[in-house]
Amino acid sequence: MTEARAEIITIGDELLSGETVDTNSNWIDGALEAAGYAVERHTTVPDDLDEIADAFRTACARAELVISSGGLGPTQDDLTLEGLALALGCALRRDAPTIAAIAARFHKMGREMTPNNERQAMVPEVGEVIPNPVGTAPAFTAKLGRARVFLLPGVPREMRWLVEHEILPRVKLPEARVARRTLKVVGVGESRLEHSVLDVVRTHPEVRFGYRTLGAENHIKLSASGPDRVARLEAAEAAVRAALGDQIFGVDKDELSEVVGALLRERKQTLATAESCTGGWIGKLLTDVPGSSDYLLGGVVAYANAIKVELLGVRAEDLAAHGAVSPVVARAMAEGARARFGATFGLSTTGVAGPGGGTEEKPVGLVFVGCAGPDDTIVRELRLPGDRAQIRLSSALITLELLRRKIAGTTTG
Ligand code: AMP
Ligand code: MG
Repeated sequence: MTEARAEIITIGDELLSGETVDTNSNWIDGALEAAGYAVERHTTVPDDLDEIADAFRTACARAELVISSGGLGPTQDDLTLEGLALALGCALRRDAPTIAAIAARFHKMGREMTPNNERQAMVPEVGEVIPNPVGTAPAFTAKLGRARVFLLPGVPREMRWLVEHEILPRVKLPEARVARRTLKVVGVGESRLEHSVLDVVRTHPEVRFGYRTLGAENHIKLSASGPDRVARLEAAEAAVRAALGDQIFGVDKDELSEVVGALLRERKQTLATAESCTGGWIGKLLTDVPGSSDYLLGGVVAYANAIKVELLGVRAEDLAAHGAVSPVVARAMAEGARARFGATFGLSTTGVAGPGGGTEEKPVGLVFVGCAGPDDTIVRELRLPGDRAQIRLSSALITLELLRRKIAGTTTG
């Protein structure tokens, strides 16, 4: 059995003019994939009646499920309901319960309803209104050909609420028809990753392998369909784990910062950071996780040499002799953070993030990262590709990965 196909249509001039990034499609993709659908196409159209009707017709000719976002507002440029009516070949009707709901919402907020709000209650004669308790624009659903269509407002918060509470309960497949697993690594390049699992791919032809690179973080995506999908997927996952060992830091929605945090919490250990070229990015990743105060004591963003000396105890002679971007300084920063904060571990970064400041000896992308622990300190030299943002993020992730392996006891100095 193949997957149920889905398509997403996003509607709005602002999505085509550089004003608004289409984050809705991306979010709906994840929700539908988890519900057992394969999203096969995104279409973005302007606020134009014929374009909207055409997008509904063509998407519904291909997919079983079509979800649109946007164009349900009260203003003249919001035409999605009319566009669907055109595609359905039916007229619009005035939905009294919707008008009452909008009026009640305005009353509650102490605001006057304007006549254009009634536009939001003009819906196709064929189909069903889905009330929206978190906004004024109601959602709508209809059958078009073989497909089930859902129209959602563009406001991300309302869209998400409606997908979770109204759409998924109606369309969720009784059982996922495709079994999926994402295995995640940091600091192993995409090509090396694929190379490491070539044998596994060859010996598991019934499992589909995909690769996704996010710079320093890389993912292997496994999927299998058919009656034995779960067993096939598990066998392939076990084989990938055998090939990659403890390089896999997590699966599916796991984030490296969460995994590291959980390890620290479990062992009642603490952490302090000394960041130069990452400017606090490691601290940001760690504190994105709720409850990180259980293990993160704090950090120093040590940009100036004087700060490295005063706050972290880096020796001025070492800075003079080797420069700030050096293994000696990375080591002293990690050890300084650990000692000054009284933490179990200290992490450090110092490097050339660019675009300027590179020399032949110390080019852009040269970064030294350190991890000081109770027994020893590990320093790694990195040669990172990409622009400033990518170099900084990669440095932060690779430093966290160094700590993960250190805690797991798999790396020694
Ligand atoms: P609309 O439902 O078309 O009135 O959209 C309301 C607002 O939601 C827009 O002004 C955008 O700020 C936002 N929005 C619409 N479509 C999207 C989308 N695909 N992704 C993210 N935000 C969106
Ligand atoms: Mg709009």
